[in-house]
Amino acid sequence: MSHAYGNAPVGIMDPPSVVLPEAGLFAERAQRLKGLSETVEPLSDFLAFMGQVAHAQHRVLETSTPTWLPEPDAFDMALKHGMPPLGIDALKRDIDVKSELAALLDALELHVGDAQRPLLDQLRGLEANELQSLIEDILDRHPGDPSRRGVMPLVAAAMQVAWVRMAQRLPRAPERPESEARALCPCCGSAPSSSIIQIEQERSGVRYLVCGLCATQWYLERSKCSVCDQSGKISYLGLEDEAGEQLLPVQAETCGDCHSYLKIVLRESDAQAEPIADDLASLALDLLLAEEGEFQRSGYNPLFIAEG
Ligand SMILES: [Zn+2]
Ligand SMILES: [Zn+2]
Repeated sequence: MSHAYGNAPVGIMDPPSVVLPEAGLFAERAQRLKGLSETVEPLSDFLAFMGQVAHAQHRVLETSTPTWLPEPDAFDMALKHGMPPLGIDALKRDIDVKSELAALLDALELHVGDAQRPLLDQLRGLEANELQSLIEDILDRHPGDPSRRGVMPLVAAAMQVAWVRMAQRLPRAPERPESEARALCPCCGSAPSSSIIQIEQERSGVRYLVCGLCATQWYLERSKCSVCDQSGKISYLGLEDEAGEQLLPVQAETCGDCHSYLKIVLRESDAQAEPIADDLASLALDLLLAEEGEFQRSGYNPLFIAEG
């Protein structure tokens, strides 16, 4: 703002509005899932397995290289025009999920028990067109054919590696999306999986929406619905134990205007909280809201696509 005493400094202390995924993303998620598998009893096996998957994702991201990359100036062009540089519609046929999936299965092979081996074999046997239709189902949030539902989380995990790899190669973070696209990931155009309140110094207390596919985080005001932009009828619902203590650092932010909800992960309550891991661990909250029937989940977590 300009006034008689000169211009107030702007920009220096402002939190970043868009944050690209960090290199240790999957390792942190794996660690968190392992911890949650020890405390969230009913989901113990599922969370432990997803922890192994995240660990394998970390190794693949670190060690293997993609066989396909966009033209070098494609990123710059998209960023210049305010388009998502990794748009799912443009990339879903080009991005190399097949090789990411093969690498993921190799990384996972040594660490899974006999129970999961048929799943890995089923994935290795997928034809190219079958894989493509699974990719489409995952991007469309479609639970797909029941016989193939079991393999979807691993295909989604390979897609996450592919998109995170690209996001990390962007020359810079995109701008925060314009108002009508505020709830779509500025890198890939997906809906957010959940939101998170950060605690690091430069963005302490700031809320970000988190992409379930490419893990980009982008700013959204607190106490505001990501779907309809209203803030008048927002409420929060969490999971509590019998003594009324919060079970997980997760709340559902419900909006009485459009009857949607998005989870909000509070790192203020637990610094280890991780948006994708804590979303999976708090499935009981989704079940509770589905039972009540007033609010529809808006969050998109490709690792878990519920039957709608
Ligand atoms: Zn994204
Ligand atoms: Zn709303």
